[in-house]
This record gives sequence, C-alpha cells and structure tokens, in this order.
Amino acid sequence: MDGSHDLELVLRSRTPIVVIESQDEARMLQLLQSITLRRASTNYVPIFRWTITDGLQRLDIALEPQTLNSEPTDVLKHIRAVNKPGLYVLLDFHPFLADPVNVRLLKDICIRFQDVERQLVLISHKVSVPQELEGFCARFDMALPDSAERARIVQKAIAEYDAEHPGKKVQIDPRAHKLLVQNLSGLSYADTARLARNAICVDGALSRSDLPQVMQAKYELLNRGGALQFEYDTATFGDIGGLTKLKAWLTQRRPAFRREQNAAHLAPPKGVLLIGIQGCGKSLAAKATSAIFGVPLLRLDFATIYDKYHGETERKLRESLNTADVMAPCVLWIDEIEKGIAGRGGETGTTQRVLGTFLTWMAEKKSHVFVVATANDITAMPPELVRKGRFDEIFFVDLPGKEIRAAILAIHLSRRKQALGNFDIESLADAMAGFSGAEIEQAVVSALYSAHAQDQPLSNRHIESEVLQTRPLSVVMRERVEELRAWAAGRTVNCD
Ligand code: ATP
Repeated sequence: MDGSHDLELVLRSRTPIVVIESQDEARMLQLLQSITLRRASTNYVPIFRWTITDGLQRLDIALEPQTLNSEPTDVLKHIRAVNKPGLYVLLDFHPFLADPVNVRLLKDICIRFQDVERQLVLISHKVSVPQELEGFCARFDMALPDSAERARIVQKAIAEYDAEHPGKKVQIDPRAHKLLVQNLSGLSYADTARLARNAICVDGALSRSDLPQVMQAKYELLNRGGALQFEYDTATFGDIGGLTKLKAWLTQRRPAFRREQNAAHLAPPKGVLLIGIQGCGKSLAAKATSAIFGVPLLRLDFATIYDKYHGETERKLRESLNTADVMAPCVLWIDEIEKGIAGRGGETGTTQRVLGTFLTWMAEKKSHVFVVATANDITAMPPELVRKGRFDEIFFVDLPGKEIRAAILAIHLSRRKQALGNFDIESLADAMAGFSGAEIEQAVVSALYSAHAQDQPLSNRHIESEVLQTRPLSVVMRERVEELRAWAAGRTVNCD
C-alpha cells in the first residue's frame, strides 16, 4: 500500500478542502495524478496545479500555464467562476490564508461544493487553517513508508543503478540489505529513496560499510536544530580498563537488542543507569555500549533543552525522544542526567514535567533505543528515577582497584606508543591508589611533557613524580566519595 488508497478515500469523502502538510510535494502530486487517472473511467475530474510562480496549470493534459492566475486572489476568483468539477492543488498557499479576501473566496467555493464539485487540495510544509474554514477541511497525513514499501524503494534504487550501468550489477550483502530497509524507517518517501540511492551509487555495492553514512544522513534530516548529537567519536571495551561486569551484562543482552533470530523470545533491554565517581569511565562505557550493540550513538544534551517558555522544554524533549525512536536501533546517551532533571532552582515545575515526560517515554517505548544515562551526583537524583524497573540495571562505577589501575595505565601507555616492558606497571599501579581512570591518564600525559622537557624517553620515574604531585579527587573529596559509595551499596550493582 503506497498511501494513495487512503488519500483517495479522503478525496471521496466530499470535503471541499483537503489539507496536506508535507515536504514531499512531488510525491503528493504524483499520488493525486495517479488517483485522477484511476478514477477516470468512472468519474473524470480534471486536475490542476497552482503555484505563485507558474499560476494555474492543467496536470492531466499538457496545456500552457495560465499566468493570468498566478495571483492567489485571482486564482480563487477563477475557480469560483468555473462551473465544472475539478481538483485544484494549491502549492504553498499557506501565507495567503491570512488574507480575509482569500478566506471569503474559499468559503464561497466551499459553500457551493454541493452544486459544483471544485475540490481544493492545499499542500505546504505547514498549514494553519482559519477557523471559519475549519468545518470545510479534512486533513490527510501521509503515512511514512512501511517496511514492505521501504523494501520496494531500495529494490527500485538497485534496479535504477543496474539500468544505468549496463554490464554491472549492484553487489548486495543480504544482511546489509535487510539492515538498510530497517534503518530507513521514519523517513518520507523522497528521503528514503534518496538515502537508498546514495548508499548504492557510491560504489555500486550495498555493504555493511554503507550503513553508518545512511544513519548519519538520516540523523541530519531528522534533527535539524535539535538537542541530539550524533557521536562520531566512539570507543570499544578494549579501550577501557575494568567495567567487566557491565561489559558481560551488555554482551549477554546483545542478541535480544539486535533481534537476532535465536533471541526472538527475549524482551529487548531498555537501558542502564551508570552512577559513579567522576573520571572513572562512565562516558567511555556509554560509547563502548554502542560498539557492543553495533548501532549509532546519540547524545542527548539536557542543557540545551531548557527553554524559558512554558511547555517548550517538554516539547523539545519529546521531539528529541521521537527522533531517537525514529533513529532506532541506536544507543541514547544522557550524560549527567541528574543535571537535566534535578530541581533547577525556581524551575521545579518544569523539571517535574520533564522527568515525567522522560519516564513515560522510558516506560512506553517500543523502539530499539537503549538508554545509557550517567550521573555523578546522587544528592540531586530524583528518587523516581532510581526506583526499581525504570532502568534494567543501575551500575556503580567505583574507583579502580589495583589490577584495573594497572590495566588502565597499560592502555594509556600503549595508546601513546610506549613499550610496556619499559615500565614497572605493578609498582606504578600501587602508587596510584585512589586515582580515577582520568587521573591515571593525566599522570601519563603530564609525565610525557616532563620527559620531553628533559629530553629523555618516558620512564617510571617521570610518572612516579607526577603521581606524587597529584592530589586525587578521592582525597580532595573524600567525604563525597564515601557518601556516594554508601548510597550505592545495596542500590546498585558494581561494574567490576
Ligand atoms: P565524568 O563524570 O567526569 O564525565 P566519566 O566517569 O564519564 O567522568 P570519562 O569521561 O569516561 O569518565 O573518563 C575521562 C577519561 O579518562 C577517558 O576519556 C579516558 O581516557 C580516561 N579513563 C577513565 N576511566 C577509564 C578506564 N576505566 N579505562 C581507560 N581509560 C579511562
């Protein structure tokens, strides 16, 4: 079903004005033309198109545009004077609906509809119908292509490529083909077709490597000016020291999240909340989650959602969550969630509504959006958010123990092309007791600078000296760390 059947029903409902809000003008015109043709044998009605630039133009037969009628008021006067049925498609008429003369003319046409069936179709990206015309209007929402239709669109793009490149055939990876059809959901017909063509045309092949670009292009189409960021910079668990329980938990749920055949009976996971000490790898873990699930990572920035106008904040949040739904399958990372939904001074009413909007979405969402929310500050954490059942699991990211400190140190030394054999990792890990991952990394970075200044290769000594000069957060903020640990005990699962 391509939507033309539904549109035909609306046209047949004998409503004088049909309003269509759509960016897909070409597609709508194509549908209207095909409906006109289909109806031709039983009830022939000519179809016209009007634009401010070209005036009125007959669409079912080739005639010169009537530039005389390019003024909005003139075209309405013309239609009002015609004594025969006709379908008049007015494109981008929305600014002229504010003119009382046009409203009156439209009303005249509508009132006489019983005698002469001149039906108007208004197509614009947005149409506000004046109240006096509401009763004469029906709205038609074009359903977005469903999975069967998306498959047809992709097939058409493949056939077009084959036809344009005789002797060559698109190389198709069946799994990528299936994922492409799945990932193009939520887009209009025209955008679906464009992205499908782009995926194929670059190299005449449809492979897994095309999918990230498709998702990026889709994100750009959907999130114009929104609060969601597409995170290009991702990580894998190989970049992380520790967090082994979290990794195992995610790995276990991967088949259910990816709807793999043998996991069809399992409910897909909803999300996790990672609470913990600053700089211990929560953000890294959010990034690595998208790598484990093999889907894009979107970051929701609560700070940009807040708006001084009543109701706007929730609207923006809903819009972002809708975008995430349409981008599914994806990971939605909400960094420092407590800052977004904890009482913001006088704005507690708004934050309550924002929290409500978020929790309702979490509870009702059917899409494959896996939420990774991270938080440092439990004092600002609303109890509703940590109640059982909101997230699948609440993990605590503690300061790393000795073994994990050694692993983190090795990761950061290797990343900076240092041979691990040149260092006594054990003793350095001992010396770094109480350090967070970020502080371990910082010690390596600073030691590299001092070694460079002394014109020496990096050695244990340089790192030790940096360690001695560092007062880690666990010392400076001992009480807060203790408080966080006490809170986490019994409420959360440790990541290691
Ligand atoms: P914050 O709450 O301050 O945002 P965080 O817990 O999200 O902190 P990250 O931003 O993930 O911490 O860590 C900062 C940097 O410290 C990382 O980019 C990484 O280089 C290093 N780091 C922290 N923890 C680890 C770890 N477990 N393994 C490897 N590197 C780590």
